[in-house]
Order: sequence, then C-alpha cells, then structure tokens
Amino acid sequence: MKYDLIIIGSGAAGLSAAIYAKRYKMETLVMEGEFGGETATAGIIENYPGILSIDGYDLMKAMKEQGQNLGVVFEKGKAEKISSDRGCFVVKAANKEFQGSTLILATGSQRRHLNLPNEKELTGKGVHYCWTCDGPLYGKKTVAIVGGGDSSVKGVNFLAEYAKKIYLIVRGKEVQAEPVNLERMKALGDKVEVLTETEVAEIVGEKFLGKLVLSKEYQGSKDLAVDGVFVEIGFDPDTKLANQLGLALDEKNYIKVDSMMKTNIPGVFAAGDATSYFGRFKQDITAAALGSVAATSAYEYLQSQGRVADNG
Ligand SMILES: Cc1cc2nc3c(=O)[nH]c(=O)nc-3n(C[C@H](O)[C@H](O)[C@H](O)COP(=O)(O)OP(=O)(O)OC[C@H]3O[C@@H](n4cnc5c(N)ncnc54)[C@H](O)[C@@H]3O)c2cc1C
Repeated sequence: MKYDLIIIGSGAAGLSAAIYAKRYKMETLVMEGEFGGETATAGIIENYPGILSIDGYDLMKAMKEQGQNLGVVFEKGKAEKISSDRGCFVVKAANKEFQGSTLILATGSQRRHLNLPNEKELTGKGVHYCWTCDGPLYGKKTVAIVGGGDSSVKGVNFLAEYAKKIYLIVRGKEVQAEPVNLERMKALGDKVEVLTETEVAEIVGEKFLGKLVLSKEYQGSKDLAVDGVFVEIGFDPDTKLANQLGLALDEKNYIKVDSMMKTNIPGVFAAGDATSYFGRFKQDITAAALGSVAATSAYEYLQSQGRVADNG
C-alpha cells in the first residue's frame, strides 16, 4: 500500500504531525525510531500547557495513544534509506520498504559528545548521556554533569534524589537555565558545586571511569574523582536522511524550512528539533506546533496534486 504520508520519528513533532494528518484523513505511517524521542527520557515536564506536571514518557505515551485511536500506523525501527521516484517516496528500514506520497522528517537531533579519548570506551561504564535513564545507578555516589543549560540543571535536580554529591561543570561564566529550575538547584545547598569557566580535559579510567581531569584547578587540583559523568552539552541534527534526499540544510545542519515547514523538495516537510525554525529554542510545545503545521502542509500539497485518498 502507498501511504498518503510517512512520518519519520515519534517525538513530539512526529506524533503531533500524525494526529493532525489522521484528522485530515490521510493514511499515515509513523516510522518510530526510539519511542517518544527525547521527551520520553527528559524526566518531569512542567511547561506543557494544560498539564501541571507529567513524566515525559507518559506525555509521549498519551500522544501515541491519541494517534493510535485515530488509526495511525506505527512501525518500529529506523528508516535507513529514503529515495524518491516520480512523486513517490520510498523508505527502507531493515528488510521492509514503505511508499508514501509525502514525507515529514521529524528526526530531532543527536546528543553531542565531548570527543575526548576514552569517552567511547567508557560509555555506559561511568560516561553517560541520559541522566533520567542512568542517574538512578548512582545512589549515594559522586557524579558530574557537563553543560550549563536548562537540561543540565534539570539533570542536577534529578540526580540529587540519588547521588550524594554533584559537580556541574560549566564552560561559560554562568549557568543559563529556567529560573524555576535554578531555584530548585540552589535549594540543594552544598550537595551541588558549580564549577564555571571549566571544561573536561580528560576522561580517565580503564574498565570504568576513575576521574576527570579539568581544564582549571578546583580546590588545588585539576583531578576530580567522580563515579559517573553525564554529558549534557546539546545536540547535533542527524543529516543522513536529509542528505539522501538532497534537502537544503542551514549552517548548523538543521533542515531548512519555510513558515509552512516546506523544504526545498516538493512533498517533503520537516518539523521539530530537526529544524531551526525557532532558533535554539527547542521544546515540546514548539516541536508539537511545527508537527501540526507540517501535517497541514502535507495535506494541502496532496490536495494541490489531486491525490488525497478518499478514506472517509
Ligand atoms: C533532558 C531533557 C529535558 C527536556 N525537558 C523539556 C521540558 O521540560 N519541556 C519541554 O518542552 N521540552 C523539554 N525538552 C526538549 C524536548 O524534549 C524536545 O524539544 C523534543 O523532544 C523535540 O521533539 P522532536 O520530535 O522534534 O525530536 P525528538 O524528541 O528528538 O524525536 C526525534 C525522533 O526521531 C526518531 N528518529 C531519528 N532518526 C530516525 C530514523 N532514521 N528513523 C526513524 N526514526 C528516527 C528518534 O528516534 C525520535 O523518535 C527536554 C530535552 C531534554 C534532552
């Protein structure tokens, strides 16, 4: 079967697009990737309008259920190759192949690494990129978070429930986070030490992380003994699929879109953190909003081609 729309990614952008598309009566397939995207492991979300406080996993579960109730088809796994042939997009994943008249790329972005020796070898052995996933392993231990943004501060607040001591290693002069999260961190008192204008110069350990070497001395030494380190220094978009299709990217490799989420290729749209439509402001509300716009554009595109399936 040929779908009216194939959506790549099941984060806030992809799921919102799917809900809108199905309400436009488009036959819609979501190629899931990791269920729920970044939000599913983001911890507690308290700024999504209409919901006081919710675990990101549950928010994504609710969005997926809304799509399922409408009849969206979900396919597990990652899209590996996309090509186009006379108005038909072909998406290949493992040993399966799907065809769609339109595409929405809602692939988010990948966690940035420090790119230091030992980092790869010690990943999962003291070096981590997801504090909600791996933080609970560090009960009564000493940990560090690298990064000075809101996600890092949220990470500190989360880890404080488990760890006995947390170092926040910040390259810049100050931490830049939502005031409410900063206040929570300050309330943790001397359980948290913020080391500003400091970078991780070395990751040291053989079978497991032993210590970090800092770019600047802290209490008379550059060595910082920690049991675990969480790297929270932002994201880079994955350009693989975009490049396969020949999509125009901006200088930071985000997919270029116009105000209706159209890319440079007719029939291909993008949404959420994979684009830089809202600059570096990347949130669930913006991702969901862009997903709804992309679905609307895909619908209008199909209508303009006289190709919307009569599914009603
Ligand atoms: C620690 C943390 C805390 C956060 N806290 C908040 C918060 O409190 N409030 C808030 O509003 N926002 C928060 N955010 C931001 C929010 O999670 C993101 O803005 C949001 O997830 C973006 O949604 P997205 O759908 O664009 O991308 P993502 O959530 O990144 O989803 C991308 C999806 O695409 C999939 N994918 C990628 N490549 C492929 C492929 N080849 N084939 C198939 N699927 C693919 C991925 O597996 C994933 O499912 C937080 C983020 C983090 C990391």
